[in-house]
Amino acid sequence: MATKVAPITSVNPATEEVLKTYEPYTNAEVEQALAQAQEAFLDWRTRSFADRAVPMKKLAAVLRERADDYARLMTLEMGKPIGEAKAEVEKCAWGCEFYADNAARFLAEEAAETSARKSYVRFDPLGIVLAVMPWNFPFWQVVRFGAPALMAGNAVVLKHASNVPGCALAIEEAVRDAGFPLGLLRTLLVVGGLVEPVIADERVRAVTLTGSSVTGSQIAAAAGRNLKKTVLELGGSDPYIVLADADLDAAATIAVRARNQNNGQSCIAAKRFIVQDKVAPDFEQRFAKGVEALRIGDPLDPATQIGPLARGDLREALERQVKESVRIGARVVTGGKRWGDRGFFYAPTILADVTADMPVFREETFGPVAAIMTVRDADQAVAVANDTEYGLGANLWTRDIALAEKLAPRIESGQVFVNGMVASDPRLPFGGVKNSGYGRELATFGIREFTNIKTVWIGPAQAGAPTPKAE
Ligand code: NAP
Repeated sequence: MATKVAPITSVNPATEEVLKTYEPYTNAEVEQALAQAQEAFLDWRTRSFADRAVPMKKLAAVLRERADDYARLMTLEMGKPIGEAKAEVEKCAWGCEFYADNAARFLAEEAAETSARKSYVRFDPLGIVLAVMPWNFPFWQVVRFGAPALMAGNAVVLKHASNVPGCALAIEEAVRDAGFPLGLLRTLLVVGGLVEPVIADERVRAVTLTGSSVTGSQIAAAAGRNLKKTVLELGGSDPYIVLADADLDAAATIAVRARNQNNGQSCIAAKRFIVQDKVAPDFEQRFAKGVEALRIGDPLDPATQIGPLARGDLREALERQVKESVRIGARVVTGGKRWGDRGFFYAPTILADVTADMPVFREETFGPVAAIMTVRDADQAVAVANDTEYGLGANLWTRDIALAEKLAPRIESGQVFVNGMVASDPRLPFGGVKNSGYGRELATFGIREFTNIKTVWIGPAQAGAPTPKAE
């Protein structure tokens, strides 16, 4: 079980002031949370989908009622612009309603024709799922995994990122107030390095992580040692391909948002802009105009479009990537430096003449820094897009839809959006390949990840029906 360590402190990244300090949970508190979640699970697993949908719909209502408070909390703890924080709460409410309405359909028994009198597949819950979550969408990341996991009949223990403890506790409170069984979702205030004993606990049946690829391999290793199923949603360095026939105005306008939403701290943000040479100067100019018009400042001001990065160390990492890329030949189109005299702000930045050996191309950039590369044609664009350890999302801009549909299968990513911006949507599966992880969230695929896909075979075998050979 977790040992007692230094306090968990939330800091306002816009002012660098401490917001609040929390005592991490003792071993006994972690044990109490697991015991409570397990007890709640034993009741919850027996309920019908219709019964489970009642508190899930109530949760949507609770989130909407408290949208202003929860949005403010997110903005204070991790710096996202308040308008985006409010939209995040609304998206969470939608996610809850979506799974309340669709879980029964997604997890309906499936008949299978065999030699049995009757055979079918059921989707039973697993038990407690441990969720290790990041700070960048502090509410949505939890709902994206949690709404389907709960509707499938599981319980959840949530180990949220250490810089958003207030959000972690607020989510627990919202779930409790929505009328779920007491303890069905419990927050554990523990730091990342102390999670392995929770993974090892026999009541915990599966682990999901949304976070960096480095953490992903650590959690997968710990889960592997304990033979626990994992779903990993990790980092990304999404390509944003602009071909010569694209609607350049739309491509440049959306590019500004695709790179800078959430202060540039999104796993599916467009990070590498791969532009066909004929239109590269034009695209660069339009993109720069849009980026330079972004309003940076106090994230609590509704007019603000860019707030601070979430932590000082994240800004330092971004600075290093930009400095090193410029040192080896990248051209600063705009930005390229810190902004303001307090808070972890970084000016929205575009680097051009980027080459494949530069950190802004090779590594994930988690902040408002866009890297532009030029290519001769669509084939080279795909090759450059795939020249990365990551494979989360991909954006493709062209008016030639037939060509887009030929290129989509060749792009190594979990999703390809043509003439639009990659975004998560409860109706579509979400996840990655390569170092961006494995498994899927959302849609039917996401809710089935944390189920026991169980075969039921009822004999006796029917005469004349095909019988499989014994194994
Ligand atoms: P991170 O360091 O991996 O942290 C994510 C979570 O993992 C936090 O709760 C953290 O806890 C915990 N953690 C860290 N080390 C751990 C360990 N050894 N064992 C168990 N838990 C551990 O990620 P980050 O840098 O804060 O977040 C940004 C990263 O997340 C980016 O790479 C981004 O692309 C990725 N991300 C991916 C998706 C997706 O859906 N694919 C979505 C959002 C973000 P502490 O805070 O206590 O260290």
